[in-house]
Amino acid sequence: MAVSCDVLIVGGGVIGTSLAFFLAQRRVGRVMLLEKSYLGAGASGKSGAIIRQHYSNRLTAAMAQKGLRVFEHFDEIVGGPPVFTRCGLVLIVNDRHRAALEANIAMQRELGIDVRLVSAQVLADIDPNARLAEDEIAAFEAEAGYVEAVQAVASFAEAARREGADLRLGVEVKSLVLEGQRIAGVETNEGRYETRTLVLATGPWAAQLTRTVRLSLPVEACRTQVALFRRPPDFGRRGAVYADFVQGIYFKPTHGEMIHAGSIAGEETKAPVDPDHYNEAADGDWLVTMRQRLGRRYPAMYRGYGRGGFGALYAITPDWHPILDRLPGIEGAFCAVGFSGHGFKMAPVVGQLMTELIVDGQATTLDIGPLRLARFEERDLIQTPYSYGVMG
Ligand SMILES: Cc1cc2nc3c(=O)[nH]c(=O)nc-3n(C[C@H](O)[C@H](O)[C@H](O)COP(=O)(O)OP(=O)(O)OC[C@H]3O[C@@H](n4cnc5c(N)ncnc54)[C@H](O)[C@@H]3O)c2cc1C
Repeated sequence: MAVSCDVLIVGGGVIGTSLAFFLAQRRVGRVMLLEKSYLGAGASGKSGAIIRQHYSNRLTAAMAQKGLRVFEHFDEIVGGPPVFTRCGLVLIVNDRHRAALEANIAMQRELGIDVRLVSAQVLADIDPNARLAEDEIAAFEAEAGYVEAVQAVASFAEAARREGADLRLGVEVKSLVLEGQRIAGVETNEGRYETRTLVLATGPWAAQLTRTVRLSLPVEACRTQVALFRRPPDFGRRGAVYADFVQGIYFKPTHGEMIHAGSIAGEETKAPVDPDHYNEAADGDWLVTMRQRLGRRYPAMYRGYGRGGFGALYAITPDWHPILDRLPGIEGAFCAVGFSGHGFKMAPVVGQLMTELIVDGQATTLDIGPLRLARFEERDLIQTPYSYGVMG
């Protein structure tokens, strides 16, 4: 016999579990979440989960700002252990981008974000291991940090269950079921689930599932990579998170005296993959390049101990920004997908915004109109004043 619920979320990453929590808190009836593997099995469990407010658009900066406030007090708001480590973010660009960076910082400061340009001398106080060349400039965002990603997903899920949501693992949605122009449920590996409200939080798999109702979502599953290095014993202070646009890399402190490093050059679009079959190891030559680039910024890391790395997935849209919307032509169906490598920080506010859209008919915390699906057809993409790729 078919299982029935009031709201059905597909996908148990940070977006789906956040949404399950915020929806269940609103007591909207029976909230269910179906996850085909295990919680955080997609992008979320491998995420760097850097929480920074540096964006070049007011909307995304405001989303990050609201996300940060939740992550800072996660144990009180959501539950479980604290997940946030504050260490600040250093952003480095070539001097020729000075005007754009200054304009961006001014916009962020208007939003109340604590960010400023810093000299090489001040940077040396913040992080003695860092090096800045004469033609480079740095900005410092003091409130930034990173989250323990797996724990955050687990805590969102636990909190959702505490609020009455039913999260089921190992249940794969195979297709959407329509009744005329309205959602009626989904077919899964264990039979039909009936619902009048469906939300896709399927990350890199988003386009696969909507194809079953001949709807094309511009979300591409692409492979990204992470390099891991253990810091040498004389490294000293753990250091900040870096967005190094001169070299096209980001890096951050992570577990066990390690540094997690990856690309911000946007090269992922050249690596579309089948999200169920992709190379989960890092490429050897790419690891060598990452060591060189990291060492240029952090000379001590030329002596870092290579710990390999891993391949992971981004869900990329044409403008590298998510889609928060209804599914067109299907009453009762919604999506929160396409976070393009920077969605972890947004998860708390996305849970809130999508709850407002679903329950109240409109998101009120922020105007999410710019993140509508139709922007791609209307050629009204989210613009970024400079080519910051995943930093948006
Ligand atoms: C290496 C890496 C570093 C990153 N660094 C940062 C960062 O520093 N800061 C930041 O903000 N963001 C970062 N991101 C991006 C961020 O992690 C993602 O945007 C976010 O995790 C996306 O969450 P999601 O829930 O949309 O997708 P996912 O975590 O991929 O979850 C989707 C889930 O849906 C399930 N699913 C799919 N199809 C079905 C189906 N048919 N039936 C049932 N279940 C299904 C999948 O199994 C999966 O668990 C990074 C990502 C990666 C990979």
